[in-house]
Amino acid sequence: MCRYAHHQYKPHYACFQCRKTFKRQLLGDITGNSKSAWQNYEAKCPQCGAFMVSMGMDFEAPPQNDLEKWKMMEGLYMLGETFHSCGCGGPGYRPRDHKQYIAYLEKLAEQYTRQLDSYKNTIPKTEDIFKAIVHWETRIMAVQAEMQKT
Ligand SMILES: [Zn+2]
Repeated sequence: MCRYAHHQYKPHYACFQCRKTFKRQLLGDITGNSKSAWQNYEAKCPQCGAFMVSMGMDFEAPPQNDLEKWKMMEGLYMLGETFHSCGCGGPGYRPRDHKQYIAYLEKLAEQYTRQLDSYKNTIPKTEDIFKAIVHWETRIMAVQAEMQKT
């Protein structure tokens, strides 16, 4: 049974500038509207006014002075690896320290490369296949760029 079915959990929003998270009130709480409304709802940090990003329900914020971990979280966000899940199985594995982060990035690069290869081997190549190839090449480059930063 999904634990989020019983209770409306508020998603975690993170400000990478202030290294803080805030639980946002769901738009539905205010308007009584559908749950999906808040997903596209822009959130601003109450402290610095920068746009915050939705990190999902299972996001655990690192301590505010842990710059390295916050960098890691920002990197994960840039790569599209956030902490969204319905709560049944959790978002899956997420790295917790620098060493795990590097290993995680290597694994991501491998997974993405496998995706890319399968599209590259697909014949005939339709427009969608070409789009998929560009998509995975872009993601691989983003992971490689992140690996060089860390
Ligand atoms: Zn802020």
